[in-house]
Amino acid sequence: MLQVLAYRPRFNDPKTLRLPFAAPGRSTGGMNQDHHPRPPVNQLETWVFDLDNTLYPASSSLFPQIDVRMRQFIADRLGLGLDEAFALQKRYYREFGTTLRGLMTVHGMEPADFLAYVHDIDHSVLEAAPRLDAALAALPGRKLIFTNGSERHAEKVLAQLGLERHFAGIFDIVAARFIPKPQSECYDLMVRRFDFDPRSAAMVEDLQRNLAPAAALGMTTVWVRQDDHPDARVVMDDHDHMGHVHHITDDLSHWLEQVVATPKAPPSVR
Ligand SMILES: [Mg+2]
Repeated sequence: MLQVLAYRPRFNDPKTLRLPFAAPGRSTGGMNQDHHPRPPVNQLETWVFDLDNTLYPASSSLFPQIDVRMRQFIADRLGLGLDEAFALQKRYYREFGTTLRGLMTVHGMEPADFLAYVHDIDHSVLEAAPRLDAALAALPGRKLIFTNGSERHAEKVLAQLGLERHFAGIFDIVAARFIPKPQSECYDLMVRRFDFDPRSAAMVEDLQRNLAPAAALGMTTVWVRQDDHPDARVVMDDHDHMGHVHHITDDLSHWLEQVVATPKAPPSVR
């Protein structure tokens, strides 16, 4: 398991951290859908960022608040004890991509109440992120948010982090017609909405399973890996099949700084 650990000393260097088993054309247990030559990361035109646990650390006390409110919502609506509700919450998250999708599919729940309830949290626990702010300011290209949460939640998180000025658009779970990552349909919808070429775009995520459909579309993928991720055991990502993960970092700001600092290749001579 965790084959990636062998590469840890080079995690944060975008020039060297391409995983050897992500090489184009090389078999990675059937997961390598990487048929497209990818441009250098400092020449990409579009950057698609996940929100929660990607733009702020998974160790923040923000997401646990959402977790607790999901459990309470399920307990109240389905008349379950908190332990039963928690088990169901995590089962749906694992099987459907989001807990909400499971509640809609299995129980026919309406999404609006759920989203309003679970995102009614104290966003002030998030600290401003000046280093990420500077890294995003220096990074060329259009930046977008692609989240399984709501747009209102994304706006509050970005405002609290001091990052809202960087993002040209937010694609939330409503825009995705409640089809969550990692289901491929919502990636197609997102690309169509923002009208960009996936082969000149990157996707940045804390859950590596959510990067697979992006890589299949030709996007360059960046996994923000965190040892203390609260959902690591729930999601049970398959670390033996990571052909869809092109870059790994445990420090997004530093990684973006390195992208910006990497000299561009001189134009080819005809
Ligand atoms: Mg996330």
